[in-house]
Amino acid sequence: MDANKKWLSIPKEIRSQLRNNVFCAHCTDVATIDKFTIVDDQFGILLRGKCKKCGHEVARVVEDA
Ligand SMILES: [Zn+2]
Repeated sequence: MDANKKWLSIPKEIRSQLRNNVFCAHCTDVATIDKFTIVDDQFGILLRGKCKKCGHEVARVVEDA
């Protein structure tokens, strides 16, 4: 399964929770990831995008269940 399909196989509510719970090193706070792409990762998939608040690059691994 490709990374994008894996992401879309996650229920919508969980996906939005994950997107709203990304740590931003610039804000030093929890942020929402924006304009992200999904790539394969060793442990599952990786969301790579920008902090919605400040635009700093953020990433989050979503581990395979
Ligand atoms: Zn930020």
